[in-house]
Amino acid sequence: MKIPFNKPYLTGREMDYIYQAVYSGKISGNGMFTQKCQRLLESRYGFKKALLTTSCTDALEMGAILADIKPGDEVIVPSYTFVSTALAFVRQGAKIIFADSRPDHPGIDEDKLEELITPKTKVIVPVHYAGVACDMDKIMSLADKYNLIVIEDAAQAIDSFYRGKPLGSIGHLATFSFHETKNINSGEGGLLAINDERFIRRSEIIWEIGTNRSEFFRGEVNKYGWVDIGSSFLPSEITAAYLWAQLENLDNIQKRRIEIWQQYFAGLNDWAINNGIKMPKIPDYATNNGHLFYMVCGSGDQRNQIINYLKENGIQATFHYLSLHQSLFYKSKQDGRELPQSDRYTNCLLRLPLFYELKENEIEYIINTIKQITK
Ligand SMILES: *Cc1c(COP(=O)(O)O)cnc(C)c1O
Repeated sequence: MKIPFNKPYLTGREMDYIYQAVYSGKISGNGMFTQKCQRLLESRYGFKKALLTTSCTDALEMGAILADIKPGDEVIVPSYTFVSTALAFVRQGAKIIFADSRPDHPGIDEDKLEELITPKTKVIVPVHYAGVACDMDKIMSLADKYNLIVIEDAAQAIDSFYRGKPLGSIGHLATFSFHETKNINSGEGGLLAINDERFIRRSEIIWEIGTNRSEFFRGEVNKYGWVDIGSSFLPSEITAAYLWAQLENLDNIQKRRIEIWQQYFAGLNDWAINNGIKMPKIPDYATNNGHLFYMVCGSGDQRNQIINYLKENGIQATFHYLSLHQSLFYKSKQDGRELPQSDRYTNCLLRLPLFYELKENEIEYIINTIKQITK
């Protein structure tokens, strides 16, 4: 048996909608499909405004512009995350203050955030790793106390909740990814959610190349022009049409992914305990959106041994992030603080295949193969 790590799921309607978009005569951005996607996401998750972008990276860059990041401003980001979470702010000249992860979860350690805040701190970027919420009450109260902007990196967190509130609706701004590795995808794609009124008008301008074109199309102004900085952050209607087919199937996709996740958990829990391996933790304030199934091994050797054994048996399991504070790009700029939890997840975390079309017998095979490995 050969089982890949990921396989992007096609719901079946993608080509119909792309065909409609192409033959509608309006294939650039902000057309019918873009607006359908945005309206759906706003109403389903209570975002004040949703703007489709060409990637989560772009949405983070828009966030950095909206937060008015200037050289020397400090932005607190977990070290255990994808490059863009930090890079988007570095491009605006920010100094990144890397935070460690929690001992029980790869998410940012909320209890150690306050000591990282200085008079230069402007933004905190919590990342909802595996779609599991950070403790947002703690983060938002720090933001209130020190007058900071919170930008949720919800790239993995579509349709996941914190104390009943949708992720992405809590921070002042939030970003999502529709990259092909995410639950809902359009190949490349993303979303900026704006929850704070003060950013709404400017977000549309930055999105449309620094112009007030959106206001013009709504008939609010009688001509449009260059009014601010920005870029071409909006995807074409072809991308939005593909995304619409995915969003129509959101409930179905989530249901199946969560089932697979639960099957892994039930099948591997006893084995993990007996082998010194930690299973994923979902705090009681968070939900599970079935984005990814990970385990944390007792050592890097154990993790690599499992990956190799699975590979010999046709199963593609994989590690995840390399701590950003240890990266070639940032290491020399880092202040020398040790971030032991981030390094532990770098060395010991393992992810198993999880995609919509993964079949029952394949999941059984993966579980049984893993169970043959004992220390
Ligand atoms: C996938 C991901 C991103 C980047 O998303 P793109 O759409 O590929 O730009 C950023 N942050 C996190 C946490 C991610 O998982």
